[in-house]
Amino acid sequence: MCAIVGIFGNEKASRLASLALFSMQHRGQEATGISSSCDGKIHTIKNRGLVSDVFTNEALDYLKGNMAIGHNRYSTAGGDSILDAQPVFAKYKLGEISIVHNGNLINKDEIREELIDKGAIFQTGMDTENLIHLIAKNSKNRLRDRIKEALDKTIGAYCFIIQSRSKQFVIRDRYGIRPLSLGKIKSGGYIVASETCAFDLVDAEYIRDVKPGEMLVFDEKNEEPESIQLYEPEFRPCAFEYVYFARPDSVIDGKNVYRTRENMGRALAKNDKGSTISYDMVVPVPDSGVPAALGYAAESGIPFEYGIIRNHYVGRTFIEPTQEMRNLKVRMKLSPMKSLIAGKSLLVIDDSIVRGTTSKRIVKMLKEAGAKEVHFRVASPEIKFPCFYGIDTPTKEELISHRMTKEEIEKYIEADSLEYLSIEDLTDSIGNDRDYALESFNGDYFVKK
Ligand code: AMP
Repeated sequence: MCAIVGIFGNEKASRLASLALFSMQHRGQEATGISSSCDGKIHTIKNRGLVSDVFTNEALDYLKGNMAIGHNRYSTAGGDSILDAQPVFAKYKLGEISIVHNGNLINKDEIREELIDKGAIFQTGMDTENLIHLIAKNSKNRLRDRIKEALDKTIGAYCFIIQSRSKQFVIRDRYGIRPLSLGKIKSGGYIVASETCAFDLVDAEYIRDVKPGEMLVFDEKNEEPESIQLYEPEFRPCAFEYVYFARPDSVIDGKNVYRTRENMGRALAKNDKGSTISYDMVVPVPDSGVPAALGYAAESGIPFEYGIIRNHYVGRTFIEPTQEMRNLKVRMKLSPMKSLIAGKSLLVIDDSIVRGTTSKRIVKMLKEAGAKEVHFRVASPEIKFPCFYGIDTPTKEELISHRMTKEEIEKYIEADSLEYLSIEDLTDSIGNDRDYALESFNGDYFVKK
């Protein structure tokens, strides 16, 4: 996942970048960083922790200049050391350079080995550092040509923003797997961000999405960014952005995330029509199940109720590395509304089941609180395959749908019934005007080495 942002042509660049990162905190909470460019020098501050903790007024005062790039980290490649926080900064023949990356490069190991064989030294475990080496080793005179040749060797899902002392280069891979949008800031300059929810806080107007295979070049000499189509587009945006990652108020590639989730809930309700089971209420797993539960309630006519309350001071459950911590965190995060659910038959909706920790715990909690029946509905298809395109799904063995059938999972989580969204209903819900990256559901790893 991760979030990236670039601000160009605004004297408050680093402040606006920190606000944008704050709105995209849901995409990564492990570490955050900003590089600004001022008077021919790049300044960087990065640290582990949340945006609001790392970017104090003092830190932002240090990050002077009218351009800045930023990153929120959610580890998919590399470790959790501070060295693995972004932006990645380096000095090389053409000057100073700083890079942020959202995605995952599938040929990173081969490239790294090749570079190490030739004597390169790496400081981090991140695939992003490969790109810096490839750019630095290239002999072309223009940075844009070096970037292009480095990208020619790079295979995978990526959105990069590369900042030199006076320019910014923005690139989205040819499949457009990870989202990236362009906006105009009302107080001056441009913003590029992983999600459009970042635009509101910096008072920017959405212009368009960065096209798959496109490079945008921001240069002080030009009023508008220059667009270069580097690669032939083969558009396959990630369906999981709509299922879980993106904030509901974001619009990704022209599609409102909230609406797509509501459609997913409606589709689940349509599939339940004619069933002999009766439910008293539709209960979302907050917050990720809320739009789908609203869709389900609207379609079925069954009332929507907040049967589970979320403590907002606990972060996303997935982030904790051990199973024990994940278990505890689910309990800290979600509590049942006993008076509402006691003796009732509940239709509970969550966006996805990955390892099965959350759903099992929720069913147990609701039953202990007196629910008569708990019927679980999942607003995405079964996740059977790990994702190598930038979403942190675990290994195959950890994925419950890889190990168990739907019936076995129903028993394991102790639900009275369990239903998933079909792949067809998922793509219908997002919009059938294009293909999507669906590898977690169908194992179609279409990005080939
Ligand atoms: P699990 O307990 O492993 O089945 O995780 C399922 C829960 O984690 C669901 O409630 C989702 O909202 C959330 N989730 C799904 N995928 C991810 C992910 N890649 N990172 C973080 N959380 C996720």
